[in-house]
Amino acid sequence: MRVGGSVRWLLEPTSPDELRGAYLAALESGLPIRFLGGGANIVAADGTWNGVVISSAQMRRIFRPLPGTSDTEGMDAGDADFRMAMPEPAYDPRLIAWAGCTLPALVRTTKGLGYSGLEGLMGVPGHVGGGIAMNAGGSWGDIWDHIEFVRLLNPEGEFVDVPRAAAHPTYRNGNLNGGLVVGAVWKLEPAPKLVVEARIREYLLHKQKVQPVTQWSAGCVFKNPDPERSEGRSAGKLVDDVGLKGFAIGDAQVSPLHGNFIVNLGKASASQVFELMDQVQDRVAQATGVELEFEVKRWLAQSQQ
Ligand SMILES: Cc1cc2nc3c(=O)[nH]c(=O)nc-3n(C[C@H](O)[C@H](O)[C@H](O)COP(=O)(O)OP(=O)(O)OC[C@H]3O[C@@H](n4cnc5c(N)ncnc54)[C@H](O)[C@@H]3O)c2cc1C
Repeated sequence: MRVGGSVRWLLEPTSPDELRGAYLAALESGLPIRFLGGGANIVAADGTWNGVVISSAQMRRIFRPLPGTSDTEGMDAGDADFRMAMPEPAYDPRLIAWAGCTLPALVRTTKGLGYSGLEGLMGVPGHVGGGIAMNAGGSWGDIWDHIEFVRLLNPEGEFVDVPRAAAHPTYRNGNLNGGLVVGAVWKLEPAPKLVVEARIREYLLHKQKVQPVTQWSAGCVFKNPDPERSEGRSAGKLVDDVGLKGFAIGDAQVSPLHGNFIVNLGKASASQVFELMDQVQDRVAQATGVELEFEVKRWLAQSQQ
């Protein structure tokens, strides 16, 4: 949302092997490590953070698997076996994407090939790695729904493949146990391109109506609470009911369009955004008794942790 400061070390590996090298070097430095995707769900503190950020920005590749390969072939080793091949779409409707492939690029590729299953992701910004870590989704489903397996770098720095059946993603949480997403394989449904395109358009139009998609934000600030505790009200509805839509601290404002979004009107600082988040959380708790949990990842300064 275009707030926040800088970091001592920013590493931008361009392949799975470089990613592993970057991670091992970061471990060796003894500094704290953070993973950055598109930053669409992160608010980073002002000032300089004394640590290492590993970014997926340069790992954007997207592939179709080689014809006739087994489920895990084509993901073997690091870079070398992510190969480009062009089987007929109906022949093998699978896609391999590296962590830094953007979610819009992933959806555009499915549209071009006539693969269905990820249409609801249109309009969700960010990268594949961040999307898998957050289990990005909506009323249509989640990014994990059609995944065959995810390749992770585990905290020890080894590549491990996690098949969908062995993973336990929950609402906005990929539950990666500290793992770093390297890439993933999706198995999608072949469908007429026009049908895929129409579904994508529908999701996009709906999103444009209900979310401040053209303003700088970090997506939903809070997770939707358990409906039993909130009498079925979403986080945005609770904020709205407390009368906080439009409430601002400096240039950080609760979106007048959607109560669960905070937008940067131009010159907001991260500390103003954090202050606004805390005030909204407190006021909703006082007025309704519902303790909202942050969905957005708050990258606090060392002094705030
Ligand atoms: C306008 C707008 C609309 C949005 N709409 C939706 C929506 O409809 N549904 C939805 O679910 N979300 C939505 N979001 C939130 C956001 O788009 C998603 O959470 C997205 O998945 C974040 O991806 P990212 O790459 O930007 O992740 P980041 O914001 O960079 O990171 C999010 C988290 O994932 C971790 N992470 C990043 N990369 C990796 C990696 N390679 N391996 C392991 N961990 C990693 C980070 O450390 C952080 O904890 C919206 C955001 C905006 C701004």
